[in-house]
Amino acid sequence: MKVYIDEDLCTGCGICEEMCPEVFQVGDDEVSHIISEDECEEHDLREIAEECPSEAITVEDE
Ligand code: SF4
Repeated sequence: MKVYIDEDLCTGCGICEEMCPEVFQVGDDEVSHIISEDECEEHDLREIAEECPSEAITVEDE
């Protein structure tokens, strides 16, 4: 799976990072960034995308 963040929509709320710090990290620019292609330990990427209040996360099958 491939994951993208729409930086124009992201508010930097940190929910994605909280759910999966292996993959998401909110930077000093207050936008979340993809920091690795790893799997998330505790949550599915699609589940995290659904939790994003701004619908800024897109998950695609490769
Ligand atoms: S959950 Fe959505 S809005 Fe919040 S930091 Fe992550 S991508 Fe941005």
